[in-house]
Amino acid sequence: MSEAYSVARMEMVQEQQPPPQARQDEDVPVLFLQDVERHYRQGEETLHVLNGIELALWPGQSVALVAPSGAGKSTLLHVAGLLEHPDQGDVYIDGRSTAILADHERTRIRRNEIGFVYQFHHLLPEFSALENVMLPQMIRGLVRAEAKTRSVELLEYLGLNGRLDHRPSELSGGEQQRVAIARAVANAPRILLADEPTGNLDIHTAEHVFRALSQLVRASGLAAVIATHNMDLAARMDRRVTLREGKITEMD
Ligand code: ADP
Ligand code: MG
Repeated sequence: MSEAYSVARMEMVQEQQPPPQARQDEDVPVLFLQDVERHYRQGEETLHVLNGIELALWPGQSVALVAPSGAGKSTLLHVAGLLEHPDQGDVYIDGRSTAILADHERTRIRRNEIGFVYQFHHLLPEFSALENVMLPQMIRGLVRAEAKTRSVELLEYLGLNGRLDHRPSELSGGEQQRVAIARAVANAPRILLADEPTGNLDIHTAEHVFRALSQLVRASGLAAVIATHNMDLAARMDRRVTLREGKITEMD
């Protein structure tokens, strides 16, 4: 992804463009899980957590992944985000197979193309909100001033004006999660993977964070998979899927 491309993407975020429709007519899904299997050994037994996952995610599309605890949501997101290798099958990013890539290539794709949000914010406690968002950009090679400008814009877009210099411990749960969202999209990824991002928040705060997240997803044209137990939030996404016996089923 070129720098010009990612800057353009950030400008789209700022302009708050209307939601792009999920573009089913696009030739290539931005993320495609093909016949993905993931199993864990448990003593004598093998636990087939993912058992032939087929999932295509299109540019600009937001998908809710709704399934009970232990169904394999986190495992699916880890495999989709190239944090874990599948035991079978392949993960395509922008039509490109990742199965045969070297680890450094997988890391590069993960850094540039994929953003993660977890249930717990995992912000660095000794850094300010602003620095937490700047860091991934600087790791990627952006100069400090540029990273700062973009981070300020992003944090303000997410309603964190006046909180930039606060450390995570000085922020509310909802604010921490919004900083984590800003950090996840700081490098203008194509794909956002969120693992129960509002699971640790009260209903009111969850609603606030979800709204900020969806607005950002829509405005930036990001494709997103959000694991959630909250059916009200899931209902407002483009598409809902569940995991049954290690396979993806559409819920609509
Ligand atoms: P969910 O996120 O839907 O709650 P997970 O993907 O975390 O589900 O876990 C799915 C199943 O796989 C669970 O039964 C869990 O105990 C098991 N599991 C997850 N990670 C591992 C691991 N590293 N080793 C063994 N079993 C695991
Ligand atoms: Mg989980």
